[in-house]
Amino acid sequence: MTSATLTIDLGAVVRNWRALDAMSEGETGAVVKADAYGLGAAPVGQALRDAGVRNFFVATAGEGMILRDAIGHGLRIYVFSGHMEGDTDDIRAASLTPLLNSVDQMLRHVEALPGAPFGIQLDTGMNRLGMEPAEWSAVRDIAIAQRPALIMSHLACADEPDHAMNTQQLEAFRAMTDGIDIPRSLAATGGTLLGTKYHFDMTRPGVGLYGGLPFVDAEPVVTLDLPVIQVREVPQGETVGYANGWTAQKDSRIATVSGGYADGLIRAMGGKAALYAGDTRCPVVGRVSMDLITADVSALAQDPTSLQLMGRHQSVDTVADAAGTIGYEILTQLGQRYGRTLLA
Ligand SMILES: *Cc1c(COP(=O)(O)O)cnc(C)c1O
Repeated sequence: MTSATLTIDLGAVVRNWRALDAMSEGETGAVVKADAYGLGAAPVGQALRDAGVRNFFVATAGEGMILRDAIGHGLRIYVFSGHMEGDTDDIRAASLTPLLNSVDQMLRHVEALPGAPFGIQLDTGMNRLGMEPAEWSAVRDIAIAQRPALIMSHLACADEPDHAMNTQQLEAFRAMTDGIDIPRSLAATGGTLLGTKYHFDMTRPGVGLYGGLPFVDAEPVVTLDLPVIQVREVPQGETVGYANGWTAQKDSRIATVSGGYADGLIRAMGGKAALYAGDTRCPVVGRVSMDLITADVSALAQDPTSLQLMGRHQSVDTVADAAGTIGYEILTQLGQRYGRTLLA
């Protein structure tokens, strides 16, 4: 193995979508923004399309263009950033459905593309995107007369089931939308797990499809194997890596693998993470460098040819914990230098 190998199990993505779909009251969409959380919007989009996904969500019109090329026409692609200045050509060309976030966006959309589909994003307390209650009351009747495809909002604390913000946002969403005869959506992965009263007509899971928390029952999707470049003896008292980050307490064997923070293997995980040789845990020692990581392989009977960072023994979220971040960030930072293997 000359380059590190990122193995992406598309079958597991599909099974995770089916599991979330089985829990969902209404339809289940799929969020494939940020290049499907770093795993590849084209292969992931095609696998989910073939599994029956009819509604996709991306962050920007540019992402929508790429996804449309991959999945073909006829399926819905919603754009969370709505209709921004300069988006009109992309929205028209790729038949995207912008989720309009403001009265300004609504005016832009109906003027530039009269009769073209759209959805509405409402703010129910997260204060990030969407129309505020007062803004919504002012345009709601006009907007509904245009038959939006979807009215949605987003939960700020859905990964904490007991957080008071969840019921607060649910009530705000109901107050803004009850009685309107248009499909509604409130739940991402976390909201889907909160139970059916959060589901409305469509759920929009993202991270759960890719094997991440808060979907604890998700099948892992990502395996990352790093090739060993060199193995050396480090006698007791010698040090390893930048700033002499680690000192051998006894004679040790240290493997240097190809992969570092330039590949999204976050520097802060040094000293806390581990690599695996089969079932054997090999602690990362010293600092994570730009292209290299060092691990203590003293416990192994034979020098390894590669070590695994993510896979059966260590999930995306375990690695995230070691780096002081969340699984979402680990996935979306996975670099472009990996050889990628897709499993059907
Ligand atoms: C990212 C995002 C989602 C998906 O969230 P997950 O937590 O990854 O399931 C859904 N809706 C909106 C508005 C988002 O920004």
